[in-house]
Amino acid sequence: MGSRAGDHLLNVNGLGISLDRRESGASINFISHAHTDHIASARSGNILASDETSLLLGAYKIKPKKLEERKDWIRLLDAGHMLGSKQLFASDYDSGIDYVYTGDFQMQKSAIAKQIQIRKADVAIIDSTYPRPEFRFDDREEVEAAMDIWIKQKLKRGIVLFGSYPMGKSQELISIMNGFGITPVVTPRIAEISAMHNSLGARLDFLSRSMDIERTEETLAENFVGIVEAGKLREAAAAISAAHSKRVYTASATGFAKLYRMGTDVQFPLSDHADFWQSVDYLNAVSPSFVLTYGGAQEAFAANLAKVGFKAMPFSEFRQDSLKTIEAQWHSARRL
Ligand SMILES: [Zn+2]
Repeated sequence: MGSRAGDHLLNVNGLGISLDRRESGASINFISHAHTDHIASARSGNILASDETSLLLGAYKIKPKKLEERKDWIRLLDAGHMLGSKQLFASDYDSGIDYVYTGDFQMQKSAIAKQIQIRKADVAIIDSTYPRPEFRFDDREEVEAAMDIWIKQKLKRGIVLFGSYPMGKSQELISIMNGFGITPVVTPRIAEISAMHNSLGARLDFLSRSMDIERTEETLAENFVGIVEAGKLREAAAAISAAHSKRVYTASATGFAKLYRMGTDVQFPLSDHADFWQSVDYLNAVSPSFVLTYGGAQEAFAANLAKVGFKAMPFSEFRQDSLKTIEAQWHSARRL
């Protein structure tokens, strides 16, 4: 594809900024949040990230070397996705262009993350996790109400086991369960990351116990709700069912439940991302002249955003110069 060093950097005030990726030639490595698909640059130095993200990187045994001085033309805005998740807002002095980059974001207030902050910008660079208009998530309140009813019904008959991503989603599940009056039992890995969240001000009430040993007075005498890593759900459910001689009801809670069968007894479409229409709401509020789509599905997302009236093109096709050249690039990209 003939890509040169620096092609995938955002250049502002003469400095190349990498956006959740490891790129050669980057002067600043921005990490929007502590999910593994966003932290490739975490060992590179000159890291720009929130204090929460820096601490949570400790879960992967990474102690990031942060940028020595914070630039006064950069601001980090809350992204609403998980604890410490941020957008990058950067103002270029010469051109007067304000850029905002989202990483993963969410418009609805989640149980753990701060509500998203929105600022107007000339160019919005937006994550493409849910690029198609068919993706529409339900209100979180509705999903949580359904979870409450289902969990309490199943607890009368057996054990409830959620398979979940250990960083972010598991803590949100703990918080939601706590709201139902339930203290869930979690694996040591999820407990470790949850304790980090508590050290950052979250108030998560959970137990860390072996779930797959025979019950005794000291262990888990009653039916309980467990949370394990998603990849270990099937195996854990079988072991727990055998140890307790009880039925284990399995559950997943992810936005992908709208797209795929998760193989669990029930799947709740609880997402920490904006769906397509929430992305449109976000862009309407940011009110950019141009939208650059970012990530795996950037072509599809740009095409679909163009259909609803945005000047949108994939970030990978974008050659940064001035707004006038972005206009020209957008017209040529659109003809494709
Ligand atoms: Zn994420």
